[in-house]
Amino acid sequence: MSGPILRVAVPSPLYRIFDYLPPDNQDPNTLKPGVRVRVPFGRRQLIGFLLETAERAEVAPDALKKAHAVLDAEPVLSADIFALVDWARRYYHHSAGEVFAAALPVLLRQGEPATAPVKAPRWGLTATGQAALAGGALLRRAPAQQALLDRLAHHPEGLSLEALRDVGRDSAALVRALRGKGWVEPLAPQAQQPDPTSKSAGVSPPALNADQAAAVAAVAADLDRFQVFLLEGVTGSGKTEVYLRLIEAVLARGRQALVLAPEIGLTPQLLDRFRERLPGPLAVLHSGLNDRERLNAWLLARDGIAQVVVGTRSAVFAPLREPGLIVVDEEHDPSFKQQEGFRYHARDLAVIRGQQLGIPVILGSATPALESRHNVQRGRYRLLNLPERVGGGSEPPIEILDLRRQPLTEGLSRPLLERIGAHLARDEQVLLFLNRRGYAPVLFCHECGWLSQCRHCDARMTLHLRQHRLICHHCGDQRPVDAACPLCESADLRPLGQGTERLENVLRREFPEVEISRIDRDSTRRRGSLESLLAAVRAGGRRLLIGTQMLAKGHHFPDVTLVGIVDADQGLYGIDFRASERMAQLILQVAGRAGRSDKPGTVIIQTHQPDHPLLRVLVTRGYPAFAEAALAERLAALLPPFACQALLRAEAAEADQATAFLKLGLALAEPIAEGVELLGPAPAPMERRAGRYRAQLLLQASHRQTLHRFLDLWTPQLWAQRADRRVRWSLDVDPMELY
Ligand code: ADP
Ligand code: ZN
Ligand code: ZN
Repeated sequence: MSGPILRVAVPSPLYRIFDYLPPDNQDPNTLKPGVRVRVPFGRRQLIGFLLETAERAEVAPDALKKAHAVLDAEPVLSADIFALVDWARRYYHHSAGEVFAAALPVLLRQGEPATAPVKAPRWGLTATGQAALAGGALLRRAPAQQALLDRLAHHPEGLSLEALRDVGRDSAALVRALRGKGWVEPLAPQAQQPDPTSKSAGVSPPALNADQAAAVAAVAADLDRFQVFLLEGVTGSGKTEVYLRLIEAVLARGRQALVLAPEIGLTPQLLDRFRERLPGPLAVLHSGLNDRERLNAWLLARDGIAQVVVGTRSAVFAPLREPGLIVVDEEHDPSFKQQEGFRYHARDLAVIRGQQLGIPVILGSATPALESRHNVQRGRYRLLNLPERVGGGSEPPIEILDLRRQPLTEGLSRPLLERIGAHLARDEQVLLFLNRRGYAPVLFCHECGWLSQCRHCDARMTLHLRQHRLICHHCGDQRPVDAACPLCESADLRPLGQGTERLENVLRREFPEVEISRIDRDSTRRRGSLESLLAAVRAGGRRLLIGTQMLAKGHHFPDVTLVGIVDADQGLYGIDFRASERMAQLILQVAGRAGRSDKPGTVIIQTHQPDHPLLRVLVTRGYPAFAEAALAERLAALLPPFACQALLRAEAAEADQATAFLKLGLALAEPIAEGVELLGPAPAPMERRAGRYRAQLLLQASHRQTLHRFLDLWTPQLWAQRADRRVRWSLDVDPMELY
């Protein structure tokens, strides 16, 4: 057998490239890397990606199978995405096929042609629709219709259903209803040209303040080469405005911009602001899209029709015809790290992509990750500072409220309740933050001490009173609340600790006449419910907001003048060395929701650890000082960013199966682990989860190259083991969570 062999990345977890013979009637010499290939794989057919052609196979030629078909003339993975993905698979030491697949929309993984869809019609207001909108009265009972008409009124060039989908639960049904009334119509194609006057009709940009102007100038001066800028600016300091100006500058040169944001940061307000200010369609990629919408957005980006692409984590792989700038908003957010399968960090890949493309990358945050600040200190990133809120409003002062020996009403101290009352009495809004949904994290027996343990996890089941169920937040198992103790049959079962539901109950008792909005995953499960909760808050007036970290990001609540952090202690003494960093970021993020220039806000933190040194630094000297102190602790302990880590996790039905695998890994590692510390195997902090035992082996080195040289040798050896099939294992490079 002579002639080229196809080396194919097949989407299976196996850490191997697979060799195939080219299909009949296919000249392998014309194939470009990145085309899709349909191949036989075991008894199945899978769609893989051509990595390269080779003269000789790595297996005996007669063992080679023939690929069924090549699906593309032109690669679905453009050369630059191919380079990024290829880099990522080597760095994360993950299955090439899975890494390639992660870079593509599902429909392309399934073999759909990668061609642009028929142009979707755009919808616009009719004259009667404009009249109805102006009249207003008709719509009072149909806020979603009102919102849709409002949106169309701002877009004389018309909007597609896709662009309207965040307006209501079902934008297609809304449009149908409004068309029935004769208020909207599909526009004739010539009206769909971008309207050159639409920008002046929209919001005109504010004049930049001096800090913003300096930040914009620093990046704009150098748009043709790779450089990473860390834009550190308190909430409301005008970071988004800086992004918008730079995006405009990039678009003016005929280039595209890619903006990454955390899932919950990607709010309708943010998207509206982008749409108002930037010309042309926006390609939006987030988890709420169906497969078809995702492919369409991907194609808009690839074909350069959308000049701006906004998306969550996986949008880092969005194709761009003319890339000019990458922005990562809220760059510290943990959601940029994928926690299963191919465990990449989208911020880190964004930086690599910028480097490969030779374009600037902006990382923005009010509370930058310690890794990013460290990169500023060692000269890798350039710091741009926006130290003040726009319009001079000051950052809210933060007070520590010492809970020791205070009588508590369901977790709330008297002084906090009094302050809440005072703010409400002035018809202002108060936000209480508690990062724990449900009524109480445990139910226990006052008679014998029984606890509502999950049968499958080393964890307690959370009491959800509304649903009247005990639910494990780790494995999802649930059951009705016990009427009596399963051990001693006592009926004296009591909830222990606080969740948002319980907080809501106590506040209803304390402030019976005040409206309360609880915003957490339970209260927002129905589509559209978050929007209506937020609309009620924005309507203004006296109100209590209770929420988990869903409330912490993206939204702005101008009428909130008091923020209470109900329980800071969990975060301060978490098992993970990143716990205090996370807590500080969360506190400032929540604090940033409050106040505006004419109504300054206050933040109160309830804690039993009022003297915690990092908390004190944060409160008295702000985030930069906190970050410095926290970095000093990391340096003293030689933890990231002063070391590099990888985590080998294993899980199995029996604890010793998992441990045996890790011991094998350890034995393979020891002879080659020069400069690499091997810690473990040890049980995971939550050893049993969803009925499986979990253990881990932590690898740490002071230099990235040392660790990666080791992983290059070690990972293939791990895969070559005939490992116990009952064990599931994974390698996490740069783990963000050590469990
Ligand atoms: P951040 O992204 O840092 O939270 P934003 O860019 O959203 O800040 O700015 C906060 C608010 O201030 C927004 O309403 C924005 O429109 C407004 N704003 C931003 N820059 C200016 C400016 N230079 N002059 C007036 N208003 C501004
Ligand atoms: Zn009991
Ligand atoms: Zn469980």
